[in-house]
Amino acid sequence: MRGLAGILGSILVAFSLSACATAGDPGAARTAFASEAPAGSAASFLSPGGGSLAGRTIRVRSLSDIRLGPKEVVLTFDDGPMPGKTDRVLTILSAHGVKATFLMVGQMANAYPATARKVAAAGHSIGSHTQNHRNLRGLDRAAAMAQIEKGRQSIADALGPSLNRPANFFRFPYLADTPELRRQLALQNIVVIDADIDSKDYFPSSPEQVKERTLSRLGARGSGIILFHDIHARTAAMLPGFLAELRRRGYKVVHLAPGGGGGGPLVASLGDVSGMR
Ligand SMILES: [Zn+2]
Repeated sequence: MRGLAGILGSILVAFSLSACATAGDPGAARTAFASEAPAGSAASFLSPGGGSLAGRTIRVRSLSDIRLGPKEVVLTFDDGPMPGKTDRVLTILSAHGVKATFLMVGQMANAYPATARKVAAAGHSIGSHTQNHRNLRGLDRAAAMAQIEKGRQSIADALGPSLNRPANFFRFPYLADTPELRRQLALQNIVVIDADIDSKDYFPSSPEQVKERTLSRLGARGSGIILFHDIHARTAAMLPGFLAELRRRGYKVVHLAPGGGGGGPLVASLGDVSGMR
């Protein structure tokens, strides 16, 4: 069995050149827009430019449940968990009172299960992102599904000692989906979490550049699911300023939580179950 250094080394090699860079047409802008005012949390919409940054919680059973209104954003963090960097992100999210979705790589959850459990205990949603961050367009169907299943199992195992369970959320590495894999995931009631706004925080740019790029793209689109990574120092560095600016501009951070009622693995975390926020 390899030590942690060996595991981390192989992970860094795998991610160093292309961690979650977008491959081809990601099919962006898949997020549907609500045609009416979002239900719930009405008071949170009364003070644009101020008030709480935390918006409503959407219970997600299928992709069609993810309908964002104007100035609503979802924060997603891919490729972790990574001790230190993920911890910093958790601290910042807590300080702003918002919940995010972490799409974890199975190999990382295997290596750092305590960090995975910390994410769940803080009430964030956890989905999967394959076992080894493979581009699934390059694999046959059986191999691709094995990557997906193994990743989900690794995350469930990491959370196993706690009462928290991963959500049935999945994101394609590099946003490299295929119609066939999307069909297979739908058959398993796994919800693909697409990304509308790519922060491109994997590029070697400054935290300020990441912040401004993301705010600019968000401003042009008005709302959407934002793709970040909790394995880069620049992401944690830009996050406090980014969230402060979101608040100043009147945005709300929406929490995607697993839909209930179906039994099975659709319970995200103790925080959700107990109603704590
Ligand atoms: Zn990724």
